[in-house]
Amino acid sequence: MSIPMRSPVMDDLGHEWFAAAAQGRLLIQRCASCGHAQFYPRGHCTKCFSFDMEWHTATGTGRLHTWSEVMWTGEAEFASDCPYVLAIVELDEGVLVTSRIVDSDPASLQCDEPVCVTFRDIGGQLVLPVFTVQGVRT
Ligand SMILES: [Zn+2]
Repeated sequence: MSIPMRSPVMDDLGHEWFAAAAQGRLLIQRCASCGHAQFYPRGHCTKCFSFDMEWHTATGTGRLHTWSEVMWTGEAEFASDCPYVLAIVELDEGVLVTSRIVDSDPASLQCDEPVCVTFRDIGGQLVLPVFTVQGVRT
């Protein structure tokens, strides 16, 4: 998988998140005030609005919440990847992550089936978490 894409905006949160991904860790945030877990990284808690957010390394396991096989896109950055599976995964921590399902037959995917994270170097010194059912399918 190569995702020739525009470089993401690298603010402080992005730097830390992408650095962890490059080390094979999927970071989510937890609120130190109320315990709420969230993804994607933001400067405040979306539940209590506290700015006291902490990084937490996710287990990387979860369930396939929903997905769609993208057969065509008007976005030039993703056109060469078609077809691919765009998915929303619910991590065991309870947060939803938009990502891709890789190394899997899209026709065999099932809602709520277990998935686990893996990481893909997409070039440009960027590594992204993606998910697979391989190794976790029972
Ligand atoms: Zn909170």
